[in-house]
Amino acid sequence: MPDSRKAVALISGGLDSLLAARVVMDQGIHVEGINFFTGFCVEGHTHALRNRERARPKRNNALWVAEQLGIKLHIADIIEEYKNVVLNPKHGYGANLNPCLDCKIFMVNKALEWMEANGFDFIVTGEVIGQRPMSQRKDTMPVVARESGAHERLVRPLCAKNLPASLPEQEGWLERSRLHAFSGRSRKPQMALAAHYGIEDYAQPAGGCCFLTDRQYSVKLADLWNTRGKREYDLDDIMLLKVGRHLRPRANFKLIIGREEGENRFMEGYRKRFVHMIPTSHSGPLVLLDGNPDPGDIDLAARLTARFSQGRDAEQVAIQVTERNGGTRTLAVTPMPADQIPADWYL
Ligand code: SF4
Repeated sequence: MPDSRKAVALISGGLDSLLAARVVMDQGIHVEGINFFTGFCVEGHTHALRNRERARPKRNNALWVAEQLGIKLHIADIIEEYKNVVLNPKHGYGANLNPCLDCKIFMVNKALEWMEANGFDFIVTGEVIGQRPMSQRKDTMPVVARESGAHERLVRPLCAKNLPASLPEQEGWLERSRLHAFSGRSRKPQMALAAHYGIEDYAQPAGGCCFLTDRQYSVKLADLWNTRGKREYDLDDIMLLKVGRHLRPRANFKLIIGREEGENRFMEGYRKRFVHMIPTSHSGPLVLLDGNPDPGDIDLAARLTARFSQGRDAEQVAIQVTERNGGTRTLAVTPMPADQIPADWYL
């Protein structure tokens, strides 16, 4: 077997891609990783912001995986190009606004471009037949290979024995007998293989590697498109959908309410772009008003801000309002009673 064969592995930060790369490395292949930053990635975002995530290590799991494997990791920013995948998925969405099949095709295609530009021989992914309802089905896995243009240069080491032999297997670069035949949603084979390699402490993403699989996040993204009257977004939009409690009392504006210190600090960086509020008589959240609130809306927003402050039971709460031009004023308002906030205001 030539010792110069090289593979590029898609590294999401989860266990499957880690194992897939490792299985191929075990056969003497030189492996480098590629990780795609779409803006929707869960990686390192909420983990770093929210208190309830504090028990978990704050790390970028893709980098951690590469470090465990001892391989180089290339991080590719695909935010702009990825918009077309999210906005116009040829194969449609999954249960939420996740265009998983188009996403996989796009990422494998990007890996193919990288492979060709860098003189590598094939692509490795951690896909497992039947693991995910949209992109990892027996009938959709060939679609990824075909529409990405990777064809037989795409190897899925965790389920390769259930698929036709890839080029590296046909050429003898990889021994098919040393690849795997995992299938279905059970995680047990992966956990057993991880134990075999002595790998512990890996990330266990629930549902997917990005926010688009999250129902609440998808509701907020759909609301953003509906209220703007067009399907578009920029990076700031999709980052802000990840933080805070979002309340939409009117079509022309919504409130983004920091839920804790970490979120308030993160939102601080955006406040100059928005009319924003903060309680001054009591401690409470930073609130950004997204949209174009009119003067009557400011009073409503201030009462809602008071509701989410420590002064929620007080007769009056002082709320400092800062306009986009930097001008400030303070309003004394009565906190909005909880039972007067309609449930459908919460996104
Ligand atoms: S979960 Fe997100 S990143 Fe993963 S395949 Fe689906 S759309 Fe792509």
